[in-house]
Amino acid sequence: MNSDLPFHVFRDRLWDAMHSAKRRQSKAALLTLDINKFHELNHAWGHDKGDLALIVVATRIREVLGGHESFYHRLGDQFSIVLDEPDGAAAQQVAHRIIAALCQPIVVGTARCFISVSIGIALCPDSDENIDGLIRKAEAAMLRSKAGTPNTSCLYSATMDEVEIEPLTLKTELRHALPRGELLLQYQPQVDLRTEQVIGVEALVRWNHPALGILAPGKFITIAEETGLIIPIGEWVLTTACLQNKAWQAAGLRPIKTAVNFSAKQLELTDIVDRVQGILTKTGVEPSTVELEITEASLISNIGRCKTVMKELRALGVKLSIDDFGTGYSSLSYLSELPFDILKLDAAFVRPLQQAGSSLPCFVVAHAIVDLAHALNMTVVAEAVETQEQLACLRRMDCDQMQGYLYSRPVGPDEIARLLRPMVSERFA
Ligand SMILES: [Mg+2]
Repeated sequence: MNSDLPFHVFRDRLWDAMHSAKRRQSKAALLTLDINKFHELNHAWGHDKGDLALIVVATRIREVLGGHESFYHRLGDQFSIVLDEPDGAAAQQVAHRIIAALCQPIVVGTARCFISVSIGIALCPDSDENIDGLIRKAEAAMLRSKAGTPNTSCLYSATMDEVEIEPLTLKTELRHALPRGELLLQYQPQVDLRTEQVIGVEALVRWNHPALGILAPGKFITIAEETGLIIPIGEWVLTTACLQNKAWQAAGLRPIKTAVNFSAKQLELTDIVDRVQGILTKTGVEPSTVELEITEASLISNIGRCKTVMKELRALGVKLSIDDFGTGYSSLSYLSELPFDILKLDAAFVRPLQQAGSSLPCFVVAHAIVDLAHALNMTVVAEAVETQEQLACLRRMDCDQMQGYLYSRPVGPDEIARLLRPMVSERFA
């Protein structure tokens, strides 16, 4: 058992556990443990003591597991554990023993505090036997646990994927989400494939709904666009992401870029360039570190006007990226006519790159997109990279950067700070 396993080794062990459970006609369980409000402890104690607190947590989990299970410190304040357990009840018993061990005070030097954790559990084999699917299920269960009582575990159930929400209620509630401070940003690291360093993040908005827990943008962005709330929400996202970037730099961390998703509705505003300039000035962020991600679908309505607006935005010093490239009404003329700096290779092209065969159509198409972007002086960022095989293919086609679960899920600002501090990221890689 080792808490410092590289992620791909952990995935191999998870795969072994899934297949061995299948052979035994039994089950295996994946536990995802997250420390609640760990950023507050970091803030109070400082990052070095916070890291030592994580080591105490890891040691206690290891003691409970007793040396038989695979245990992995995934990122920041999150741990993953693979158990060979016959059913959910047995896995929950282990989760409760871990919680009991972590309820004891954490002592580092003369400092002492209590933490609470949330644990999500997903069992396999299930109807699908996909590793990434299992990881997501454990995370969904963990988020559900987090939205409830601290120090509890939650077993994944299929209904968690289909939160029953009355759209009308959600519409009304979304109006209050911003003033009530229910929106938050998570940041998914972007990694340079040559230096293997984190060189940027994509800011992703979440709604911490009082009853439903953390909602992904898919649950509310369409409503925000329909109601026009996307305008204040989009401005809040850009402002918050810029301020966060400034805060990382003020903390002495390596400068990185921040990518922010930009809605078609924002692009349609007649004064959008002034609004963006206002935010850049107000936050004092270096414009060249800001990327606005624009989806292909946003460009269809009025290409001529888009061109003018995009040129003006670029003149402010920000970078523009074409998001989800290749999934909409792909018109290659966009690439030659519009001033994009970055192309985001959509998950639809990355997902099939499971095998190393460079003659496979999926490889050929993705490679051609990368070459085309490079010929137009654009940087290519591959999205949703989840496996070593996909990464190997992307390296072979000379893709520049990647983001995805293979490196990290979207995380809070403290975890990004941790990744940018070299000593610590080496220790917990
Ligand atoms: Mg995006």
